[in-house]
Amino acid sequence: MEMETYDVIIVGAGPAGLNCAKQLGGNNLRVLVAERNSVIGPKVCAGGLTGKGIGLLNLPDQLVAFKYDKIHLFHWDKLFHLQDDKNFICTIDRKELGQWQLGQLEKFPNITVKTDFAVSKITSEYVVVNGNKIGYRHLVGADGSSSLIRRYLKLTAQKTDIAIQYILPTTQYKELEIYFDSNLFAAWYAWIFPHKNYTSIGCMGNPRVISSKRLTKNFSTWLKKYGIDMNGAKYEAFPINGDHSQYRFEGNIYLAGDAGGFASGLTGEGIYQALVSGEEIGKMILDKNYHSEKIDELVRLQHRHHKILNALVVAGKFRPLLIEAGKYSLKSKSISKKLIETIA
Ligand SMILES: Cc1cc2nc3c(=O)[nH]c(=O)nc-3n(C[C@H](O)[C@H](O)[C@H](O)COP(=O)(O)OP(=O)(O)OC[C@H]3O[C@@H](n4cnc5c(N)ncnc54)[C@H](O)[C@@H]3O)c2cc1C
Repeated sequence: MEMETYDVIIVGAGPAGLNCAKQLGGNNLRVLVAERNSVIGPKVCAGGLTGKGIGLLNLPDQLVAFKYDKIHLFHWDKLFHLQDDKNFICTIDRKELGQWQLGQLEKFPNITVKTDFAVSKITSEYVVVNGNKIGYRHLVGADGSSSLIRRYLKLTAQKTDIAIQYILPTTQYKELEIYFDSNLFAAWYAWIFPHKNYTSIGCMGNPRVISSKRLTKNFSTWLKKYGIDMNGAKYEAFPINGDHSQYRFEGNIYLAGDAGGFASGLTGEGIYQALVSGEEIGKMILDKNYHSEKIDELVRLQHRHHKILNALVVAGKFRPLLIEAGKYSLKSKSISKKLIETIA
């Protein structure tokens, strides 16, 4: 029997995969988006989306839970702010985002999205789903931090953070809050991200600096310290891959989003990077000579984040002083603006 073949198979219907598919919509390429989950969208994530991502998506207002022109930062229990004169960050629900992105693909007859469709094996010519081979001309790995395609390409991921969060069924929190505590979270932080019907409270760190076990223990200490009521909370944990080296392989295999290690190891942000890399890889498939300046910019930005992170890691016991210095520098409007440009 002849093997079914697509021009493009995109593995994973997260922000990267769906934005890649959108870019390929309306062309004469047959595109398959294979998603292992039964519902598109839900993902372990705090749902913070920075201004660049909001602009890129042209996100409708009803999808935004809250918009902020200010982040409340805490160090040594003292509050300070990262503030702009316009909104630069918002929170969105990942299921709603995924469903909205999916809806945008409905008008394209050349795109097929299949759920409950887990790719279990990759070869240079086909993928395997439920024991069946499906051929491809181009393969896009948009399958997140534990990417099968990344493993097939034998890429490791050293700079992978672990992020843990509780989803609390409460709407009592109204501000976007970030807590630095060098003893508990080393160079990273804990967050409170309010949503319409729930709140994400979490923290992150790199296991090479702070083990997952210690991070989990320290997070409990922090939750107790702030008297956070964990009644009915749901615990979640997932890696964030910020170890980018390459995104195009053998001319016809690509890695987008977390599969490509595009996330920030410093802030944990990865939705924007997933959207951009997915879209740009779509353009490359349409035009083999296309060179993506936007991906170059993502990579430069990731290097800047790694440099800041490295400085915080090697500072060791002097880290709190570095954070305090940062806190004082944020009194300057121009430094605040520069930092917002770097992280948002
Ligand atoms: C606790 C936590 C909090 C976070 N908070 C934020 C935040 O506030 N802001 C932000 O920007 N980023 C945040 N991130 C990071 C963000 O979630 C990711 O960077 C982003 O989801 C990456 O998008 P993606 O499309 O590359 O991958 P994903 O969103 O992971 O999508 C990959 C898709 O591939 C599917 N898949 C995987 N394997 C297969 C397979 N074999 N076959 C078929 N389908 C498959 C998965 O089911 C999934 O739907 C957070 C991450 C964590 C863990």
